[in-house]
Formats: sequence, C-alpha cells, structure tokens
Amino acid sequence: MKTTDPVARLDHAHVWHPFTQMRDWLRQEPVVLMRGRGARLWAADGREYLDANSSIWTNLHGHHHPRINRAITRQLAQVAHTSALGLASEPASRLAAELIAATRVRRPLPAVRKPALTKVFFSDDGSTAIETALKLTYEYARRTRGPDHKPRFLSMQGAYHGDTVGAVSVGHISLFHAAYKGLLFRTDAVMAPYCYRCPYNRARPERMDARLHRRCQWECVDQVARRLETARRADRPYAGFVFEPRIQGAAGMIPQPDGWLQRVAERVRDHGALLIADEVMTGCGRAGGPGILASQEEGVTPDLVALAKGLTGGYLPMAATLTTEAVFAAFLGEYGEFKTFFHGHSYTGNQLGAAAARASLELVMAPEGQRRRERLAGWLDEDLKTLWAHPQVGDIRRVGLVAGIELVRDWTKRTPFNLKEQAGIRVCAAMARRGVLTRPIGNVVALLPPYVTTRTELRKMVGALRDALCEVFGTVDS
Ligand SMILES: *Cc1c(COP(=O)(O)O)cnc(C)c1O
Repeated sequence: MKTTDPVARLDHAHVWHPFTQMRDWLRQEPVVLMRGRGARLWAADGREYLDANSSIWTNLHGHHHPRINRAITRQLAQVAHTSALGLASEPASRLAAELIAATRVRRPLPAVRKPALTKVFFSDDGSTAIETALKLTYEYARRTRGPDHKPRFLSMQGAYHGDTVGAVSVGHISLFHAAYKGLLFRTDAVMAPYCYRCPYNRARPERMDARLHRRCQWECVDQVARRLETARRADRPYAGFVFEPRIQGAAGMIPQPDGWLQRVAERVRDHGALLIADEVMTGCGRAGGPGILASQEEGVTPDLVALAKGLTGGYLPMAATLTTEAVFAAFLGEYGEFKTFFHGHSYTGNQLGAAAARASLELVMAPEGQRRRERLAGWLDEDLKTLWAHPQVGDIRRVGLVAGIELVRDWTKRTPFNLKEQAGIRVCAAMARRGVLTRPIGNVVALLPPYVTTRTELRKMVGALRDALCEVFGTVDS
C-alpha cells in the first residue's frame, strides 16, 4: 500500500523488520512512534498508545525517565564510549560491583549449594550474553575434565535464548529454529513444566489458579533427573543446563510451579553441570523479588547468569554475563598458556549503557521500587480475573510483572488455535486499534507493563484486551 507518512514511506522502502512477515507489513500503515513518557507512547499521527509489553520486555521504569535521562546526559558530557579491550571505565566498573552486590540480596529460602557470583562480562544484548555463557561453560568443562571431553548442553523444551547461532542451538522452538538445524550444534531438550497442558496431571480443575497442582508428583522433575542419569551412565555428562527461572518467556509465558527450579538445580549440581540462568527477560525485578535475579526467588544462585533487556531500563543495548570465581579461575594462566577468554565486542562495557544501567539498577533496588512492583502485580491479578468470562481464554498466567493469556478454540478441551488462524496476531491488532501495544507469542497474548504503569493505565491495557477478544471472537453473553 501507499503510505502517507514520510517516515512510513522510508520504512516501507528500506527497513526489514525482525520476526515480521514483510508482505503483511507492507500492506499496512505502520505505527511510527515519536515520543514516550511513562507507560505512554505517541505516534507521528498524534495518536496515544500504552506500551503494554514494555517495548518487547525491555523497558522497566517507563519512557523518558528523569533519573535515567540525567544519568545518560551526565555521562555524555564526559565520554560516550571507550573500548574495554585493555582499558577500564568508571561506569562499567561501578556497574559490575553494583550488579554483584544486587545478587547478594538475602532470601528466606535455603540456598542450593551456593557459589557466589563475583565477575561480570559485558556484551550487547541477550543473545551475546548467552553466547558468552555458553562459551565460558564449554571451555570451563574442557579445562576441568580434559581437552578430549566434548561438552554438551541441556536446555528446556520450548526454550528461546536468542537468535545468534549458539543461542539458537540451545533453543527449542521449531518454528524459529528448524530451518537452521544444519548450522547448529546439537543440544538435548528436556521436559519443561507446562501445567496448563501437563501430560501427567489432567485432573487440575479448569479455570483455576495456574499454581494449583492437584496430584502433582513432580513427574517433570523426574524427567530431568532421568535425562541426567542417562547421560552420566553413558559417560557423557552435561557441561551446563540452560534455563529461564520461574517463567519461560518466548516459549509462551509458561510459569514453573514453585519448587521446580530448586529441585532441578539440586539434581543438575549433583550431576556436575553448571547452572546457566537466562535472566534476560526475568531479571531486574521483572519476574518478581527484591533482587535482580528471579532464580533467587527459588533459592538458587546460578553459576552463570545472562542479563540484558531490562538491564539499562530499556534505554540502550547492553548485557552482562555474571559468573563465579571458579569459572573465572579456569581462564587464568601465564600469557603463553593462552588460557585467555578470546571473546568480546567493540561496544563491550559501553559507558553510556553502563551509566543508564546504574541508574536503572538503583530504581530496581530501591524499597519503593519493589513496593510499586508488588502493588502493580496485585492490580494485574485483579484485572486479569475479568478475562476468564471469555470462552476463548484458556489460561491466565502471571509471575511478577509478566502475564500471558493463552487463547484457545475450546476452553473445555483446551483445544489450541492453529497458528495459521493468527488468533494472537488478530487480537493484538484489535488492541492496537484501541491504543494498547503488545505482541503475541503464538496464541498467547503477553502483557508486561512498565513498572510505573498507573492503576488507570493498567485497567485500560486489560480492558483493551477484553474488548479486542469480543471484537475478534464475538461478544460474551453474561
Ligand atoms: C529476548 C531474549 C533473549 C535474546 O535477547 P536479545 O537482546 O533479543 O538478543 C534471550 N533470552 C531470553 C529469555 C529473552 O527473552
């Protein structure tokens, strides 16, 4: 189609959008975003929107936040970027120390044999933070088990860890990954809990709290244990287990029952594999808790942690891989031993990014920030409940400030829509017409409001979803 907006015309002429069928894209007038404040965004045509997925799960404290703005402009007056290859910088050094301190928040749960996180390797985004973790784990395993050892990884069914080749190798979403199979290294997938569609526990009453698990015998944990045991017997132990703590994001916003991670972490540690937590989405308070790691809500301190998306509050691309003294030490030696971690990026430790991240971290860690997140989570539960009345709502899931609403053809049988029907896409398009922006994951509508979302704005986000369901599937008679 011919677009009228001059920016939209340039976009249509030259920009290739991620995860987007460009033929569909070119048929529509795009929303051109110009300005933002808090949870609100304004488009070039003057329309106002609510950012109901925090700009693909990155934004934490709202747009145009005075504290983060100030941190960036202050840093800009000093220097924007210097290389971390052989050089130090103040923002990156301070940020590293503050991140480590933030992982030491005490939680009531007993910790699973706890290594302390002490070192931070900076990179640019979630995918590069995962690549770093994978390469560190791979080399750590070879150096501790011998150079003939072929390290292998275990990850969760439905996992998504980014789009670079290593991150795709530990991912298990065939829609995204099948085409590139020939390019990837082999990884094993193990059963991930998906309580709504649990093959073991069909007795759970419909439309009840997703955290109710009648008759659950932790069969999903047994599956992990069995997989580890098989690998051990074959004398091919895993070097690392990659997981998202508490809730899998791109898999479809699938929460793990409380206690799952703690149980699995114990077994993985007994097996001798490293725990690699992908906290790209869950970290920085998004999936709950006062600290920056959702893993710690389960009493688990991983050996490696990838942080990205919200690290800079959604301002700049920057990521961090946190790890332990033990992993760090495996790379120490005389220069000539060539134990150096030969890995890094041009923008590693970017000064502007680090300045933004420090300001964001301070907001995350402030007691008032935590209270605000808890209050917003409570409102979210209240509002989401109103969606159960709609017959196309099969399941409603929430962990922290991450919510997923799974749309189904028939809720009594949990029959999914065929992806080609674009149920999620159509509902999100109808929400956008009502001034609320989010993106679906298949048949799951994701809601991840910025932490500063007001009571009224949240009502509007969920209200738009309710109205969109009625528009797309027909109204509900009450
Ligand atoms: C988004 C995401 C990634 C990839 O991060 P990018 O910044 O897009 O490379 C990895 N893991 C998880 C859990 C994510 O949600």
